[in-house]
Amino acid sequence: MRYTAQLGFVGVLFKDFRWAKEAPKSEMPLIVSTWHTGIKANRAAWDDLAKGGTAIDAVETTAKVEEADPNNQSVGLGGRPDRDGHVTLDACIMDHKGQAGSVAFLEGIVHPISVARRVMEKTPHVILAGEGAKQFALAEGFVETDLLTEKSKKEWKEWLKTAQYKPVINVESHDTIGILALDMQGHLAGACTTSGLAYKMHGRVGDSPIIGAGLFVDGEVGACTCSGLGELVLKTLGSFLVVEFMRQGKSPTQACKKAIERIVAKIPNYREAQVGFVAIDKHGRHGAYAIQPGFEYALKTTTQEIIIKSKSYL
Ligand code: ASP
Repeated sequence: MRYTAQLGFVGVLFKDFRWAKEAPKSEMPLIVSTWHTGIKANRAAWDDLAKGGTAIDAVETTAKVEEADPNNQSVGLGGRPDRDGHVTLDACIMDHKGQAGSVAFLEGIVHPISVARRVMEKTPHVILAGEGAKQFALAEGFVETDLLTEKSKKEWKEWLKTAQYKPVINVESHDTIGILALDMQGHLAGACTTSGLAYKMHGRVGDSPIIGAGLFVDGEVGACTCSGLGELVLKTLGSFLVVEFMRQGKSPTQACKKAIERIVAKIPNYREAQVGFVAIDKHGRHGAYAIQPGFEYALKTTTQEIIIKSKSYL
């Protein structure tokens, strides 16, 4: 009897070990989004995802929630403008087959993520920028909209009084919405969307529309997206790096940590900036790591809906 019980115990241990490596089936599907706003955004995609919807639809739906919210001043409608008063948007999307689409420096369109998806699905290109991206969007039936809300305009006018450019760590001037999903077919997808750094130079493009920097998905391995000072991510091709570390066997958290350590090793002024990576692997394991405390992501699975606070280097 005691022997049988012990065997049972070992069996449970073994099962847990296996699950830790492969992730329980109940964790498929799953969706993660950067920041606390991700809770609300994840919900918008959840019903479809839970019924067998695709990861690529889920990440687009989730991104659109934040893009349309004028109270979220780091993306889409209501995004903070550049120093000249223009709201310019960056976004990209990628699926498990490695297909990708992106728009950079796009003005006047509420849903850059959907334009990025059309670039992926309807053009032979990966990135469309500026006026060309806008012309493409209008030709695709997107409607031109003034994205500068009264609130963002008022803040910008206040900022103009001193016109001092100093990004604030974590919140206030930048916060990309990055989303990663794993659907019931085991397919991964990712999206990210942003108005970039508030009061940036006109014409500045960040990491978010650059495949491999702000987002990367490898259907055989995992996916990563990030938020923070894009220049640091661009110089290290951060999201690609995280996926490569997962390919080498690192867990999502370990992989994010190693990519942050790369930034720390290569970029002398890392202490003045924030970068936070969030990653999932093809088994549904998830994790994050950041330079500074304060980075977080929202997770939704069939059993959980929580905000997870990232560990940090500092
Ligand atoms: N990564 C974005 C950029 O540099 C901003 C952010 O995530 O807050 O444009």
